[in-house]
Amino acid sequence: MPHATTQIACHDCDLLQRLPPLKPGQSARCLRCNALLYSRKRTSLEFSLALAATGIILFAIANLFPFLSLNAHGQIQDSTLISGALAMFDSDRPMLAALVLLTAFVFPLLDLLGTLYILLNVRIGRTSRALLPLFRFLRSIKPWGMLEVFLLAVLVAVVKLGDLATVIPGVALYSFCLLILTMAALASSLDAHLIWNRLSAP
Ligand SMILES: [Zn+2]
Repeated sequence: MPHATTQIACHDCDLLQRLPPLKPGQSARCLRCNALLYSRKRTSLEFSLALAATGIILFAIANLFPFLSLNAHGQIQDSTLISGALAMFDSDRPMLAALVLLTAFVFPLLDLLGTLYILLNVRIGRTSRALLPLFRFLRSIKPWGMLEVFLLAVLVAVVKLGDLATVIPGVALYSFCLLILTMAALASSLDAHLIWNRLSAP
């Protein structure tokens, strides 16, 4: 049963109506006001699953290898995402360090691992209502993953440090850029409505 018939309320006029089973690419509109109720994604669960797995690998590379190397007068210093955040703890900026750790490390990691776990369970048919709170939690932390903001801050720092030292971009920086693209693709391909349906099916 790919897509059970469910009740859905129109976001615009609140009319409760039955949502028919939709094929990939099809969408349903409100009977009363013609607002878009839901449009089924063309991409498959397997596609999202592949993106989530790719994301985990890129995340690992982005955090295990040097982000940037600074060469100042022959002294080379490697810096990773975590070591950068820990340096902020040492320089008496614990709040900023915690914010960076949460938005650039903890939340994106939880998001990727949780999404992968749920997609794997849905793929092998082991769906259960017990996974609903986890999926709800993942949806709630999603806005707190701010990899793009972090990357922007790093690029600004690189430009500013350019006069003082030679900045050598590391493999983690490239991986981090790919990770941002992969997570954006994952967010746009993931059919949350479909997953809610599968998880809440008895
Ligand atoms: Zn409506």
